[in-house]
Amino acid sequence: MTQAPDQTVPAAESPRVTIPAAVVVSDLAGLLGITPVDVIKELMKNGVMATINQVVDFDTAAVVAADLGYAPEEEGGEEAAAVAGEDESAPLSRRIIEEGEDAQPRAPVVTVLGHVDHGKTTLLDTIRRARVVEGEAGGITQHIGAYQASGPDGRTLTFIDTPGHEAFTEMRARGAQVTDIAIIVVAADDGVMPQTREAIDHARAAGVPIVVAVNKTDLPNANPDRVKQDLMGAELVPEEFGGDTVVVPISALAGDGIDDLLESVLLVADLEELKANPDRDAVGVVLEAATDPRRGIAATILVQTGTLHRGDVIRAGLSYGRIKAMTDSAGQQLKEAGPSAPVTVLGLSEVPPAGERFETVKDERTARAESVELRRSVEREGNVRTGVTLDTLFGEIHRGAVQDFNIVLKTDVQGSIEPLVRAIEGLAVDEINVKVIHAAAGTVNESDVNLAVASQGVIIAFNTRAETGAQRLAEAEHVEVREYRVIYDVIEDVEQAVRGMLQPIYEERRDAVAEVRQVFRRGRRNSIAGCLVRDGAVTRGSLARVMRGGEVLRESRIDSLKRFQEDAREVAAGLECGITVDGFEAFEEGDEIVTYHMEQVR
Ligand code: GDP
Repeated sequence: MTQAPDQTVPAAESPRVTIPAAVVVSDLAGLLGITPVDVIKELMKNGVMATINQVVDFDTAAVVAADLGYAPEEEGGEEAAAVAGEDESAPLSRRIIEEGEDAQPRAPVVTVLGHVDHGKTTLLDTIRRARVVEGEAGGITQHIGAYQASGPDGRTLTFIDTPGHEAFTEMRARGAQVTDIAIIVVAADDGVMPQTREAIDHARAAGVPIVVAVNKTDLPNANPDRVKQDLMGAELVPEEFGGDTVVVPISALAGDGIDDLLESVLLVADLEELKANPDRDAVGVVLEAATDPRRGIAATILVQTGTLHRGDVIRAGLSYGRIKAMTDSAGQQLKEAGPSAPVTVLGLSEVPPAGERFETVKDERTARAESVELRRSVEREGNVRTGVTLDTLFGEIHRGAVQDFNIVLKTDVQGSIEPLVRAIEGLAVDEINVKVIHAAAGTVNESDVNLAVASQGVIIAFNTRAETGAQRLAEAEHVEVREYRVIYDVIEDVEQAVRGMLQPIYEERRDAVAEVRQVFRRGRRNSIAGCLVRDGAVTRGSLARVMRGGEVLRESRIDSLKRFQEDAREVAAGLECGITVDGFEAFEEGDEIVTYHMEQVR
């Protein structure tokens, strides 16, 4: 059980999100860029049962926002950001970062990315063979989706055993980011290839630090220097060239350089100050799950913070159950598992999807109730994911849901990329980052779509199109794939979207000044200012400010405007008139009534 109030503190770069004092669940989902169902789930975790159309107050919404790694701010409020951080029960963030007294360093979670055949699988196998503590079953480790290895200094690292950015981003697209550090494998005989660049972009879009492993250095035609040159081209400047990218030469096949690589990863991890609190209920993410004919449902889950015990009840979406057995990747039976530990658990009621979060629940009854409620709301409301489109994006930004205008750009030829990227990114303005998070020649593939989902972005296909699978995925995820043939059209559309996103700036334009010459009182609640319009023209209904000796007495509007007892719509300079100002009675002779209107200047 939780000992002391933990704090799930949003990362330093947490995006801000502005939430109204009261917000409908479906709107909150839009603000946070997740599905209404996920909002409902998050609310449930915090003991709030709500349906999609229900209104929740800011404090409740802020807890959910903070759980997802946002820094919530109340619309029109200042101190709101602190609210969620103080909440004891705030359990989850996209990448869990715990601070405070109970937080302790935890093992980094590492994913291996890179071009096909560059040696990702070989690297994972070699590390597993060399660095995983052998299990009872003669050291044969099972593939369970992740394993823990010990570094040269005895410290632990957790490896996600499914290499490649496709799986990495798919997980992110489902709202789960488990990776702390990405190892990008580049074969020394091949150099930086299209999928290497893709992997780099995907890691960057996730904000995950990169360590480069230059692999296959055992080959006679290995050319590590060329790889480093290539990396510079991809804006990863190796340390030896004055940059901050750690590049480690290895041979995954021969096992050379593995210790150096692990050491480098741990060094990068140290900079990240990864922490978790082992003294709390476990929360984390499902890495993979399947029905095992012998054991029933087996799910590999990663504990992100807290400690999971055999016998605990967990719930992952609709699936729940008491943990009957828990094993590590070496097949060892475990009684408990702490932060960053991947374990296979038995006892869940159904197979949870990969990427689903899990949390510890008080007892099975509560878990069942939550699951039933969730199923109901899913059935009622459908599992709607709200994607962004070029047309709606400005609305999202306006509402504070999205701060970056992220674009995945695919083109027919390499040559189109640079001018397009330059033109598109040139449209950025102070408040809005227009970022091409990934640009490559080729058709739009599923990993492009997942990247767009994970980054709340849109896809621009220039003289190219989406593959059938990608098209289907884009439709299912409501990701917009815009096809263009002319550069000018791309620029125009992006520019319009950016303009739409900009909060309009209004400036005041003075219309008239009228001087109060005489005050007529008709009872206590009705003072009429007899005025001479000195400048411009006073219009009925227009914004007005009552001034005395340079001081503003009242901001309001012209309520009634009369000339010779007759209602007038407008009274021009040089003429006299009777004016009442909404909510202001205390006129004195010599006061000035300034009328004005607001004009949108942007
Ligand atoms: P992946 O597609 O990135 O997972 O690549 P694999 O790990 O499947 O490796 C592709 C091929 O490269 C296999 O034939 C490996 O044996 C070979 N390979 C991987 N690492 C090395 C290495 O360090 N040296 C050499 N010579 N071959 C390697």
